[in-house]
Amino acid sequence: MINFNTIKIYCSGCSSLLYEYHKAGSGLLVKCYKDRIKEDYTRGDLRCPKCGSEFARERMIHGKPAHKIIQGKVYVKT
Ligand SMILES: [Zn+2]
Repeated sequence: MINFNTIKIYCSGCSSLLYEYHKAGSGLLVKCYKDRIKEDYTRGDLRCPKCGSEFARERMIHGKPAHKIIQGKVYVKT
């Protein structure tokens, strides 16, 4: 049984809220699976809607579409 925590992901440049996300486990956030993004506050283009900073790249991870986080571009609050 996997425990999911709802976390909030913010732009490290301007502190805009980007995603609310259901994260498995407590490790460093390296990716967001698309089907676990609970609320998406971006325009879906992997950029901060406020400052335009690119914070993730589209990747297939374990066969599922995901957003690979660019380290240093976001921070997380639980
Ligand atoms: Zn920003």
